[in-house]
Parts: sequence; C-alpha cells; structure tokens
Amino acid sequence: MRLRVGAFIYVWSLPNIPSDQALVFMAEYFPESYLQAYEQFTRGVENLNWDLEYSDPISTDGIPCTPELRVQVALSPRVSESRSALVVSTGLHGVEGFLGSAVLAKLIENWQRDSPKCRVILLHSLNPFGYHFMRRADQNNVDLNRNFLVDGKYQGTPELYGRLDSLLNPRKSPSSWDPGFELKAVANILCHGFSAVQEAVAGGQYDYPKGLFYGGSEISPLASWLQEKMPNWLRDIQNVVHLDVHSGLGKRANFQLITEMSIEPEFAQKLHTRFSPERCVNMSAASDDDRKIYRASGSFGSWVENQARKWNCGRYFFAVVEFGTYPPIQVLKALKRENQLFHWGAATDLQHPAKQRLREVFCPRSPDWRSRCLESAEDIAKWMCAQLMDFH
Ligand SMILES: [Zn+2]
Repeated sequence: MRLRVGAFIYVWSLPNIPSDQALVFMAEYFPESYLQAYEQFTRGVENLNWDLEYSDPISTDGIPCTPELRVQVALSPRVSESRSALVVSTGLHGVEGFLGSAVLAKLIENWQRDSPKCRVILLHSLNPFGYHFMRRADQNNVDLNRNFLVDGKYQGTPELYGRLDSLLNPRKSPSSWDPGFELKAVANILCHGFSAVQEAVAGGQYDYPKGLFYGGSEISPLASWLQEKMPNWLRDIQNVVHLDVHSGLGKRANFQLITEMSIEPEFAQKLHTRFSPERCVNMSAASDDDRKIYRASGSFGSWVENQARKWNCGRYFFAVVEFGTYPPIQVLKALKRENQLFHWGAATDLQHPAKQRLREVFCPRSPDWRSRCLESAEDIAKWMCAQLMDFH
C-alpha cells in the first residue's frame, strides 16, 4: 500500500503528463545501456521486416563486449513510385545515443502501424564506443562532429582554448569536491563574453589529443565507412531529408533545428511557420546575432551536404535536431569530469558518478523531459516525411 501511495504521489507530481501512462511510456523507449539499445533496435527492425546492416566491430582495446560494438543501419524497402528518402542518424556523440535510440524506437513503432511512403534509412549509434562507455568522444577521443573536415586540414586550435586548457583538461582523476570550476568558467565568460568562450571551447580543436572537443588528426573510420556506404543506400534517390539527433544544447526540453547550408527561401519560410523562427537556426546566416549559436569545424552536416553532390542527390536537406537539457556550464563540467576519468582514472567504470552525471546531462531521467523530447522528435519526423511527399 505504501508503495502504491508513493507511486501515486510521484505520478501526480509530474507536470503536464497524464497519470501513470507517463512512466510506462518512458520506460518503453529509453534503453539503460548500449547493449540494450542494440537489442531493442534489432528487434524493432526485424519486426518491420527491413534490412539491417552493421559496421565492422569497433576496437575496444581488448575490453570484452558482447555483442561487439557496431553501428547499425536499418533500410526500409524502396518505394517504387518515390525517389525520396528520410535519413535519421543518432548517437554521433556516444552518450547522446540514449535519446537517439528512444527516438528511433518511437518512429519504428509508428511505422509498424503505418508504413512510410518513402525510403527510410536509420543510422543507429554512430559512435558505439562512446555510447557503451558513456562518453561523447569515440575510441580515439575524437569528437566525431568536429572530424568531418571537407578540406582535410586537421590543424589548429583557438587561442583562447589553449589558455583554458588547464581548466578544461586537468591531468588528474576528477575529485569529488570540485567547486572552483564554475567560478573560473563564469570569470572567463565575464572577461571574454559568453559567445567567444563557447565558440573557443566547443568549436573544435586539433592540438590536444586528450582534450575536450578534439577533432582528430585524420578522417575517422566512421567517415570512411559512411563515404563508402551512403551512395549505395541513396542510389536513385533525388530528395533527402536527414535529421541528426543530438542533445545538450539549448533550453531544457526544447529543441532547435540547426542547418548549415543556405535553405531555399520557400522551405525556410515553411520551417519558420511550422516550428517558429526561434527554433530554426541557420549557420550560414550572415551576422552572429542571426546565427544564435556557435560555429564548429568539421561537422557531419557540412560534410554530408558536400558529399551529396557527388552522390547525385538532387536535394539534400540536413538538420541537427538538438534538444536542450542542462545549463551550458553544468554540461561542460560533466564533460570535463568524465574526460578526466577516462584519461586519468577508471576509464570504463560505468557506475562512477562522473559517468552517471554525463549520462544525466545528455539524457535526463525526468519523465517530463523524456516525453516532451519524444513527442517533438515524432512531430518533426512526421512533418519532414510529409514535406518529402511534396518535393517530387
Ligand atoms: Zn551532440
């Protein structure tokens, strides 16, 4: 009885969610681990009777994993009268994959009831190492969303990053008492301005291989693999909408649609009308004020849109769907502590508070956050599918 009363109070205290349905709803879609996500995705795709492909296993430096860590790709049957495709990719930033898997599980469930009218390509857990070991970077400490350089120059670091190196990347295991970080971060923001610090810290660096936001020294195995596979997956496709699911930036439980290339004015207008101008961020916008968000080098989106010209896709629209979680300093602190643990402490201790905290800042356990993000993602995917129908 006591348990029931407790459960009732818990459910009753959830904002904006109808009764106990919320808890059942949440538990169903969000996996507890990469391995659970792997099985959930496999089961879902098998139920749909779609093709399932895998990357080669990712190296874990001898740490045993069953099943092995692989990127999974689901491919719906080609729809003969359609030359359009929806691509949804998730988990490029490892630990952000918990949300990505839930989004894909929800979309798969919908497609079980109502088959998609275009080709669908689902890229599940693009960074399986980071997902399994609960970190943002891959097995080489590479932030994959800083690695897709179109010009291939893996060099350079913002000067301010160099000055903040000791704050961002201490060469020691994280201590349980670490209050100075916030003070120093705020002091730097007051001194240089929030946007300048954010862009210097998170925009990508190529000189600190154990540091945060390291873009690598060469093209990643993931990029090479995608370069080989994507032309085949997209063969005979003329129109593509590609949604890349991320979390950790922006207002909590809210989303932003972040695009890099210039968009046709008519489609931009449609996006604004449907999702509000505040949520639509175009990185090619002229002024910093219009852009609203920091620039990053080597992003997946700019690379994909560039490659798509070689793949003979007539139109390739790529958008990051970014869900807000915690304030930026809290997210940065969690990243810093996990990175310290990985390089200077118990790298694979998934129960360590630094790992658990990182997971929380990228995929909060709050049922309200989870339900709002899933509803938004479902809504965006449905709307984009409808647009694809209009394209041809
Ligand atoms: Zn991300």
